[in-house]
Amino acid sequence: MPLSNPIFPLIAQAARQSGVRAFVIGGYVRDFFLERPCKDIDIVVEGSGIDLAEKVAVLLHTPVHTFKQFGTAMLRHHDMEVEFVGARRESYRANSRKPIVEDGTLVDDQLRRDFTVNALAFSLQEEDWGCLIDPFGGVKDLQNGLLRTPLDPDTTYSDDPLRMVRAVRFSAQLGFTIVPESLVSIQRNAPRLEIVSMERISDELHKILMSPRPSYGFRLLDQCELLPLILPQISALKGVATMEGRGHKEIFSHTLQVVENISQKSVDLWLRWAALLHDMGKPATKHWDPKIGWSFHGHDFVGSKMVPALFKHLKLPLNEKMKFVQKMVLLHLRPISLVQDEVSDSAVRRLLFDAGDDIDALMLLCEADITSKNEQTAKRHLENFIKVRKKLIEVEEKDAIRNFQPPISGDLIMQKYGLSPCQEVGQIKERIKNAILDGRIRNDYQEAYALMEQIVKEMGIV
Ligand code: ATP
Ligand code: MG
Repeated sequence: MPLSNPIFPLIAQAARQSGVRAFVIGGYVRDFFLERPCKDIDIVVEGSGIDLAEKVAVLLHTPVHTFKQFGTAMLRHHDMEVEFVGARRESYRANSRKPIVEDGTLVDDQLRRDFTVNALAFSLQEEDWGCLIDPFGGVKDLQNGLLRTPLDPDTTYSDDPLRMVRAVRFSAQLGFTIVPESLVSIQRNAPRLEIVSMERISDELHKILMSPRPSYGFRLLDQCELLPLILPQISALKGVATMEGRGHKEIFSHTLQVVENISQKSVDLWLRWAALLHDMGKPATKHWDPKIGWSFHGHDFVGSKMVPALFKHLKLPLNEKMKFVQKMVLLHLRPISLVQDEVSDSAVRRLLFDAGDDIDALMLLCEADITSKNEQTAKRHLENFIKVRKKLIEVEEKDAIRNFQPPISGDLIMQKYGLSPCQEVGQIKERIKNAILDGRIRNDYQEAYALMEQIVKEMGIV
């Protein structure tokens, strides 16, 4: 039953009383046919969307949020978000994505939708209740898994270039194919993405990353020639340099494999971002040495320094999520570097100290980073990994380093020796911290206090 939600008869009742025709349109109808869960309902009205929403809100005794400049209104009902919009006819000018908007019919509105599968509508009128209105063969495209624009693709993409990124997003989310004429149209129109705000693009990137096939999505962005415009830093990972007949690992494919691996283990959006960005520092640090071959020394550090600029470029907030991604990029080699020889307690303590509560995420990333095609190598790495995990648990149980708070604070040092904030205070703290992490003293107030007294004497402060 397409319209089983009890909100639909209420909307129909309000529309009838106002003498307007209303339809369910877009994602809800598409997801009904795909049997996907859907949390938002879009209603299009041949008339005022805001007026209808206000009437429905009265019937439901619920508040309504109106956005007058867009002519839309939204209300919540249980866990559903219902959005109302008046049917529109839109025409665009070449240099702007602000359209000239006029009132229109349902079909006018369907024509300005992005894909035929998103332009399907169910009638809410009594006489043809639940009847499907599918002027562009959207159901057939749904059955064949195709993304096709209702208008000539050059028109649809040029009118709102974000639709090109949405094509990739739906492709990754639904496993659909962009029809060939649409794909070439995207390649042709790609430079127009310039007029779209980064915030809208980033929202789509999040959805691609959270889709069941993120790596497919990023490959498709590349194929559509959108990737260099959106994420030049990731596009720069493509290709293999060769010296004396020796090439290095192809970093773009490797990166996408890591994204795929992490996505099987975690639904954390920011950890998926970290996987995408973890080798971003490689192009800048690539070095050829005839004796050792290719190296990317310091790419972890360089990559982590690139994260804030990339977030800024994508208009993502520079908050603790950004810091988390930065930390993951910086530390992504650390667990694996531990397993080269014997795993020492102090190396594990340092790792725990640096990663803190993000140690589990870091271990997932590091494990996902093992993409060696050589089965022996991959097996050895994974076995070593198990060793590190065991050791991490042992050391954490013994020393509780994960949320390490230095037992001696800067305040205490200053108070005891009558110092004001200065370099020496920092040095004393650092030496105490190192002594604990190296296992020379225990993570304990008394031992740290004794060491402080000794250090202060050595430094000639007292
Ligand atoms: P989801 O909610 O899963 O992201 P959706 O298809 O519902 O998918 P929304 O962004 O919620 O996508 O948009 C709702 C509907 O509005 C779409 O189904 C589509 O018909 C239309 N739409 C949204 N954005 C655009 C756009 N940029 N160009 C044309 N139509 C759009
Ligand atoms: Mg939606």
